[in-house]
Amino acid sequence: MEQKQKGNLYVVATPIGNLEDITLRAIKTLKEVDLIAAEDTRHTLKLLNHLEITKPMISYHRHNEEIRCENLIKELKEGKNIALVSDAGTPGICDPGEEIIKKCIEEDIRVIPIPGACAMINALIASGISTKEFSFLGFLPLNKKRRKEKIEEIKNSNKTIIIYEAPHKLKNTLNDLSSILEDRKIVLARELTKIHEEYIRGTINELIEKSENLKGEIVLIIEGNKIKEENKLNNLTLEKHFEFYKKQGLDKKEIIKKIAKDRNVSKNEIYQYFI
Ligand code: SAM
Repeated sequence: MEQKQKGNLYVVATPIGNLEDITLRAIKTLKEVDLIAAEDTRHTLKLLNHLEITKPMISYHRHNEEIRCENLIKELKEGKNIALVSDAGTPGICDPGEEIIKKCIEEDIRVIPIPGACAMINALIASGISTKEFSFLGFLPLNKKRRKEKIEEIKNSNKTIIIYEAPHKLKNTLNDLSSILEDRKIVLARELTKIHEEYIRGTINELIEKSENLKGEIVLIIEGNKIKEENKLNNLTLEKHFEFYKKQGLDKKEIIKKIAKDRNVSKNEIYQYFI
């Protein structure tokens, strides 16, 4: 018997507030697929109505992920093209998606991402905090022990940290962060792309004061541990400190300047040592 050509799974990003934040390709995909698997069909219907798209929908959320996965894979194997959407932003990022994507890969079904809005990336780029290296942690664990361990991890990381948080848990989270990170720089990004979009910048303790009774959707961007890298370097011998920058491709003059800055001494002092 001839084998049917499998369909594709399109992982389609939708707006995180402003309905205009959807790409032409996402709209085209939603129009062309056979079926839309949505986290909440009523929620997605509003978007489809706005875009004047009529399409069969099926729910795909945390509580039916396993069983729905099987049905969707069957449809994909029969040649149907399916778009996966979540309530907001990019499916799979703190939203359902991971399971069906893994299953498609196992079954040799093509997974095609259709890029678009994602709260964490937009909060990060507008935060003013370093975007060079960052870790996205999603929501912090609720379990006390694991939560404490996670915050300890944040304390020791020199990467920018991105966290999602619900408004009613914000105060508690800021207090927990403050008890371990003390007064680290932080930016709260709220209601991105919506009318009340807002950024509150300061230290964690300042934010505790400034964010009383805040509502809406929230992303926290925490500056990486700045002291750690310098301390680590300053604990090295001067030769090893020199080697560290040499490996980064810096020339002797630049290296001496950097070491002097790290150790808060004059360039001449370092220069004298090396001659
Ligand atoms: N998949 C989504 C994405 O791509 O960002 C994230 C979904 S997760 C269930 C929901 C969380 O994302 C919210 O609690 C909030 O932390 C963050 N979020 C979503 N939309 C947002 C917005 N417009 N402004 C700020 N944060 C938002």
